Amino acid sequence: MNDCLFCKIIAGEIPSKKIYEDDTVFVFEDIAPTAPIHYLCIPKQHISKLNEVNESNSGVIAHIYEVIAKLAKDLDLKDGFRVVSNCGEQAGQSVFHIHFHLLAGRPFQWPAG
Ligand code: AMP
Repeated sequence: MNDCLFCKIIAGEIPSKKIYEDDTVFVFEDIAPTAPIHYLCIPKQHISKLNEVNESNSGVIAHIYEVIAKLAKDLDLKDGFRVVSNCGEQAGQSVFHIHFHLLAGRPFQWPAG
């Protein structure tokens, strides 16, 4: 997508602090972290939001969760972590390239506000 912030980050047109990359997934630090660890895990393929996931693109979403599990192991997040995907404006989505916040390093409340 020409005008997508996260597509530009994947392409290296906008700088980011990369944590992980493979053929289909890119992980980088959130610019405004809300926890000691706050990464954004995104598919390289442009999918706008969670309700656009279907049988033709769900493989990459499954792979994102594999990557998250690997990162959690590598980072030794044995005290726990949270994964969040805001879908739509009312839920707080501000960037319309599907992403999964990986949050760790502090206690979290539930239900979230
Ligand atoms: P959401 O509000 O769920 O759509 O999450 C979007 C996230 O993208 C927010 O947590 C922002 O802080 C983050 N963000 C926005 N611009 C950038 C950027 N240039 N680099 C890294 N993270 C960003």
